[in-house]
Amino acid sequence: MKKICSKCNKPAITFIRYNGTHLCKDHFIQYFEKRVKKDIKKQGKTDNKSKIGVAISGGKDSLVALHIINDIFLRRREIDVIAITVDEGIKGYRDESIKIAVSNCIKRSIEHHIITFKEMIGKTMDEIVLRNDGNFGECSYCGVFRRFCLNNKAKELGITKLITGHNLDDMTQSILMNFINGDIKKLARLGPHQKVQPGLVPRVLPLRLIPEKENALYAILKNIEYHNDECPYSANAYRGIFRDIIDDLEYKNPGTRYSILNSYDEIKELLLDKYPPIELNKCKNCGEPTSQEICKACIFKEKILNPDLS
Ligand code: SF4
Ligand code: ZN
Repeated sequence: MKKICSKCNKPAITFIRYNGTHLCKDHFIQYFEKRVKKDIKKQGKTDNKSKIGVAISGGKDSLVALHIINDIFLRRREIDVIAITVDEGIKGYRDESIKIAVSNCIKRSIEHHIITFKEMIGKTMDEIVLRNDGNFGECSYCGVFRRFCLNNKAKELGITKLITGHNLDDMTQSILMNFINGDIKKLARLGPHQKVQPGLVPRVLPLRLIPEKENALYAILKNIEYHNDECPYSANAYRGIFRDIIDDLEYKNPGTRYSILNSYDEIKELLLDKYPPIELNKCKNCGEPTSQEICKACIFKEKILNPDLS
């Protein structure tokens, strides 16, 4: 039997298991956008005359974030929305997703900048994988270098806030992973960040309350073209273990992801009391902010470019 929307009499297109509602297209879009807009406000005011950067890969999450941010700020002419893509150099994967990122920006007349690992780090991700001695996973290098590239480019462009497409699944995986690894300092410092650190462009995560599946549905309903392949190196990603655990818990007990995030939000202030944000130094090599003398990107770069010396 066809299900009817819990809010009106139209046919439902989806069932939200964690709250037991059936929703039609319009009510799903409304439900989705309401949560995103509310959370953006909660994460801080956007000043007039500011430049907002959106990190886009060509995947659904970052493109949904771009479309929503662009829609919200379209009418505020004094605010610029600029897209940034990092090309890690993963043949057959990132080159394809970049084509889609470019086409989304052209369609919406959004200024778009692409930066590459090759020019910023000296090696593509494919080359890094070939040289990897196995001490760190591919994603560790990729994550550190991507953050380095994004922060660098965002500062160069005068961006005041950097939007990323992290969704509820990503957030809960990071929370569980840091907790299980006993890395409570890192847990305390997960974004979004309230304190602005000199040299670090603050992150805003508009999709942190949205499950990945709902992002995909929203992208389809709004005709947002996105790249759906998986990175060839993702099979080795340590975070995959936590994704599987949480997927299983969510299946058996719908709402688990929200419970994890809500519990984290409840204790975040306490964690920050114990581990307040520290004053950052400027990396002696590159000038990027770091808690040490040399930043992680420079340490990794040395390892990759001069493996015999490190
Ligand atoms: Fe980079 Fe790992 Fe993501 Fe691939 S899966 S893009 S290697 S972080
Ligand atoms: Zn550095």
